[in-house]
Amino acid sequence: MMHECPICKAKTDSAVHADFPFCSERCRDRDLGNWASEKYVVSEAVFDEEDVAEGKGNTIVLPLDEDLDSPNDSDH
Ligand SMILES: [Zn+2]
Repeated sequence: MMHECPICKAKTDSAVHADFPFCSERCRDRDLGNWASEKYVVSEAVFDEEDVAEGKGNTIVLPLDEDLDSPNDSDH
């Protein structure tokens, strides 16, 4: 069965290439990498949006509190 490598468009043969339809292990890995990184970005963006909306109040209060508490006065 003849096919084309989805990454580099080289001709591949299912009888010859162990990584069919990819021409090589490198192209197969690259395709899997693209897939994994895309999935990761999408799921992280969704998680991040909810996290920011919920934790915004805490994130603002904490730095202010730390700043007032910091021993910067000894430098005066
Ligand atoms: Zn290839």
